[in-house]
Amino acid sequence: MVDSPFLLGNLSEAQTQIGKCHIKLYTYSKTGLLKSSGILSSVTDILNAEDKFMDGLPVDHYTFLFDFSNISNGAWEHSYSSEYVLKELPLEELLKGSFLTYIAHEFFHILTPLHIHSQLIEPFNFVHPVMSQHLWFYEGTTEWAAWILQLRAGIMSLDDYLKGIKMQLITSEYFRKDLSLRDLSINAYKYPDQYQNIYLKGPVTAALLDIYLLKLSDGKKGLRELILQLSKKYGVHKTFDEDKFFDEIVSMTYPEIKIFFDKYIIHADPLPLKEYFSWLGIDYEASKGIDSSRFDLGFGVSVANNRIIVANVPDTSITEMRNGDIINKVYNITVTLENVQAAFMQLHGKKPGDEIKLVLTRNGKDFDVLWKLPYAQKKHYFEVVKSPTPEQLALRNAWMQNLP
Ligand SMILES: [Zn+2]
Repeated sequence: MVDSPFLLGNLSEAQTQIGKCHIKLYTYSKTGLLKSSGILSSVTDILNAEDKFMDGLPVDHYTFLFDFSNISNGAWEHSYSSEYVLKELPLEELLKGSFLTYIAHEFFHILTPLHIHSQLIEPFNFVHPVMSQHLWFYEGTTEWAAWILQLRAGIMSLDDYLKGIKMQLITSEYFRKDLSLRDLSINAYKYPDQYQNIYLKGPVTAALLDIYLLKLSDGKKGLRELILQLSKKYGVHKTFDEDKFFDEIVSMTYPEIKIFFDKYIIHADPLPLKEYFSWLGIDYEASKGIDSSRFDLGFGVSVANNRIIVANVPDTSITEMRNGDIINKVYNITVTLENVQAAFMQLHGKKPGDEIKLVLTRNGKDFDVLWKLPYAQKKHYFEVVKSPTPEQLALRNAWMQNLP
């Protein structure tokens, strides 16, 4: 792994045992700021939470590879390892961001899909890929688990958990509403600018499926328990039938779940957030009018071919901006993956109604756009009911824990 003596000083290693799983961390940190040992102490609670959530980790070894240098390129998992290419920042800064949830997400892949997957992804045809319609399950459910296992272990407060769902819902609004999770799964290559929505709408839908299962079972069996049952039934080598998976889950749970899949995964019906969260004694409002003190960007941004692109223009009658346009500049700052935050920081201090100047690129041609910043909407409000009914409280308690 190491062949340059110049790298040696900034490479570090640490290891630990979590349940029956031997865990190793290897860290490359460009200036030596980050060490495996420091990261390990920050992620141990997450790893223990995974162990509890999975009722014992299903693998006996696992390796984390961290590469901290100038840019953030994200994180991805292999079978028994995951790799994180992130901008080198002090550990406290990393922990304020999404670092722990990245770890929780990638590590959870040891269960979905490693232990539960269809015949389409094993062996995966990299030359002529056929996408599984169950990417909603591999990625959406994994992202849901990454959050709720922290809530259930007390690492994350209920307020922060609900703030996370709010953020997922707000960001998801910048994507096409007509594409269902199944459409996004099958057409991941066809709609690369929509793909990120799997990680937004996916976990929210999984959260609702969990609540619905708990409601139907009187707090006895939620999505976690279903996943654990599936992982015992399948496993590393035994695949499920791509076309029968929905029916199989229905047969393992309740007939009502067929309607849930049909509405919210196969089709793209609006999610029943208000109704389902009310069962937990949590009020939800999709909209509470506008917040005249703040602005919204008003369009979505995504990444394609290492450039930042416009992802969701709300109303093409009011602007020349179109989905897929490259955001070349914000004012005079050229937008790259590395400085996207700095470029948009120029909007700091702007007010609703102010116009901002963008230089977009379409088919190789640059053009200027003046974009008027809209008022922020007060959206996706969650509020925990102070005096819930006994039924609400019982279901909330079941939801907040890993059931026996
Ligand atoms: Zn993933």
